[in-house]
Amino acid sequence: MAVADGAKISMPPYCLNVFLTEDCNLSCSYCYIPKKPHQEEKTYPSRVIIRAIKSLIKTGCKLRNINFTGGEPLLKFNDIKKIYNAFKDRDLTKGCSFTITTNGTLLNRKVLSFIEKHKLGLTVSIDGNKKTNDLNRAPGIIGEDAGYDCVIRNLINSKLPLKANLVFSQKNFRSLPENLLHLKKLGFVSIDFWPQLFAKWTLKEITELKESFRLVEQIFSGHCSNKRVGNYLLDSIKNGEKSYKPLMCNKISLDQNGTFYCCDRVFSLKESQRKKFIIGNAKNGVDERLRKKMLDRIRMSLWRSSGKDCRVCRYAAHCFCPVGHYIYYVSNGLDFKAFFPHFCRISKLYAKFSKTALNFRAN
Ligand code: SF4
Ligand code: SF4
Repeated sequence: MAVADGAKISMPPYCLNVFLTEDCNLSCSYCYIPKKPHQEEKTYPSRVIIRAIKSLIKTGCKLRNINFTGGEPLLKFNDIKKIYNAFKDRDLTKGCSFTITTNGTLLNRKVLSFIEKHKLGLTVSIDGNKKTNDLNRAPGIIGEDAGYDCVIRNLINSKLPLKANLVFSQKNFRSLPENLLHLKKLGFVSIDFWPQLFAKWTLKEITELKESFRLVEQIFSGHCSNKRVGNYLLDSIKNGEKSYKPLMCNKISLDQNGTFYCCDRVFSLKESQRKKFIIGNAKNGVDERLRKKMLDRIRMSLWRSSGKDCRVCRYAAHCFCPVGHYIYYVSNGLDFKAFFPHFCRISKLYAKFSKTALNFRAN
């Protein structure tokens, strides 16, 4: 039985990812943004981004979240302030939250005061304890004190309800439970943990990962201490939300030149490869019909090429969404069919994790 018919479902976007810069002061081994020389960056992107957001809202888009991301968005902190100030008192963004996803290394007192004063959401990318976190950061940069120690020092006196984004790889997934507990102990109120999905996981690794997930279920159910910790997937299921990401996407992405794209993974491509995923610009906002048509076309070719139809998959409600990976693989002439099975297997692990962790909670 079909869960939902992706080709016929229209979901107007309500989350905007603003890629303020593709530059970064770190160089994480799993980052999907290709590195490019600093001078290619726009110095002050705020004017064009403010214009683009206004145009987007004029086309009827009701935004619920604007997330500043990158690269490292705090390299453009002055632009974040300008963009936020342009919208904070207006009806245009009523009910819309503002968040920043950062590597945490540039969180000084000035930045934290601004975030605290205006109640912006803060998500820090941190992979666990010092050993794990610094494993995937470039050694040269860690030598310059931009790793775990720097992030913890920056956050130590913060009263903010901190969220963590943890990425685990084939190198460190066996210590996933230990690293989640570490972040929990540090006081993170919510932790999302993502596999390095661009990597090719072997069946053996996925079977071992399944074992690690048994402990992870207990951590999120509060069984490893009396304090429960939040998690995007669990919280959305608890709130009765089913995202059906592989069938309908609620996100759009904006770059520093005011160009809108249909998927955030487009930023894994070189600029010259991105053009066919453009859905709007700063002057006119987003062409919703074009966006829907484009995503439907991508989904149809993904299902054809993988031989799996997400519309009839019982895991679709909370799956990661393979669209972005499909865009990356196909644009780079890589074999998506070989990659797809482990993507599905890992998505299914998450579905099982959420079910068990939530049942633990209910007990
Ligand atoms: S991967 Fe899927 S859910 Fe994520 S931005 Fe792309 S289309 Fe949307
Ligand atoms: S688990 Fe696989 S088949 Fe199922 S919705 Fe996700 S990507 Fe599609």
